[in-house]
Amino acid sequence: MSNFTRRKFLKVTGVAAAASSALAFSSFAIGGAKKKVVIVGGGIGGATAAKYLRMMDSSIEVTLIEANKDYYTCFMSNEVLGGDRSIDSIRFGYTGLAGHGVTVVHDWVSGIDADKRVVTTKGGKNFPYDRCIVSPGVDFKWDAIEGYDEKVAEKIPHAWKAGSQTITLRKQLEAMRDGGTVLIAPPPNPFRCPPGPYERASQIAHYLKNNKPKSKIIILDPKDKFSKFGLFMDGWKRHYGYGTDNSLITWVSGADGGAVEAVDAKTMTVQAAVEEFKADVMNIIPAQKAGKIAFAAGLTNDKGWCPINGMTFESTVHKNIHVIGDSAIASPLPKSGYAANSEAKVCAAAIVALLNGGKAPQPSYVNTCYSIIAPGDGISVAMVYAYKDGKIIKVKGSGGLTPSEFDSDMRAREVLYAHSWFNNITADVFG
Ligand SMILES: Cc1cc2nc3c(=O)[nH]c(=O)nc-3n(C[C@H](O)[C@H](O)[C@H](O)COP(=O)(O)OP(=O)(O)OC[C@H]3O[C@@H](n4cnc5c(N)ncnc54)[C@H](O)[C@@H]3O)c2cc1C
Repeated sequence: MSNFTRRKFLKVTGVAAAASSALAFSSFAIGGAKKKVVIVGGGIGGATAAKYLRMMDSSIEVTLIEANKDYYTCFMSNEVLGGDRSIDSIRFGYTGLAGHGVTVVHDWVSGIDADKRVVTTKGGKNFPYDRCIVSPGVDFKWDAIEGYDEKVAEKIPHAWKAGSQTITLRKQLEAMRDGGTVLIAPPPNPFRCPPGPYERASQIAHYLKNNKPKSKIIILDPKDKFSKFGLFMDGWKRHYGYGTDNSLITWVSGADGGAVEAVDAKTMTVQAAVEEFKADVMNIIPAQKAGKIAFAAGLTNDKGWCPINGMTFESTVHKNIHVIGDSAIASPLPKSGYAANSEAKVCAAAIVALLNGGKAPQPSYVNTCYSIIAPGDGISVAMVYAYKDGKIIKVKGSGGLTPSEFDSDMRAREVLYAHSWFNNITADVFG
């Protein structure tokens, strides 16, 4: 990258000042050894960080260790469940990153030695680092719902990590009789993609309305409110008869006894706080915590998430290890792909500066989450964030929600924006 392009790029990502001075340095240690960054997890956070580190400073050796050869985006996986998108359209590989000079290793990371600065894998390899980035996504609290564990999840999918689970759930919906009941159990806060379960309900409702109109969806929620609440409710009324006797969707809030306590996979029955429910297809989304490796590396707090410094995403527990994406405590940034992508760029710019003996630049972060309620009816929430007085804060007046007053042209545009966002972010991460 020429100096001009580098400068322009850093300006666009909002990290111009300090990082551009960092770029005046080279990342060679005294004696000529190359600086090494090892990244754990090649999802949205990890893959973005790998690519942008190489773009910002091509003298850094970047190794990305990812368990799977293919990555399936969770975003737009609800459209796969709704039948409007193929599973192949959300599958991405790692040749693009290799093209940026990232060394991609497919293996499972089993440990990180923070003192010796070495990452170890199940395959028996050791990867020394100057800085390590951890972006393993989420893991599930398998003990939160009686009768629902990893084994049962093969039959009753959570589909909260896209791929084979998405395919299983879609096949079950296709095989279900007309007149069947689909039960969706969203998790308690905090969890990956706050509007996700409700977009999922919308997409499944869209499929049932057109293919199995006698069927019903019951959402058993431990919460009393959720992201884009009013917009979803309004959309469900418009498309799926919500609130009428004939509604395709029933939402049971936490206050009304929605929290799922136990699952019986044999009888396909769920015990919620007040009542028992039987279903033909179940989608249980368990409570969440940071990815496994974050626990193995001692990066988590007592709540199961990773505390970080929001300026650099360096762990406040272990020096030289940065945690980004869903595993990090970056609130008010949500646990979303767009946020993971934004955090990765801030983290990469900070690492380039620090490895070059400079100071981490002043960060700026962005997020937008689209949800598609029905074809031609999209909604979104957007926000820009800044770092002030040691905290990530929302920039007042910078974002907002789709207006509640229904405007069909605007809603159709939101769907176009959602699809174009998908194309752009996946090209940005994997291209
Ligand atoms: C249904 C659904 C819809 C969504 N829609 C949106 C949306 O519209 N917009 C949006 O912004 N976000 C959306 N999200 C959220 C988004 O997918 C996540 O927030 C995002 O993927 C987080 O990125 P990450 O890097 O933290 O984790 P991930 O993308 O999950 O990546 C983690 C990677 O690490 C790998 N890994 C984990 N542990 C190890 C290990 N020990 N060794 C090697 N590899 C490892 C995994 O294989 C995985 O590839 C949605 C999520 C869901 C479930």
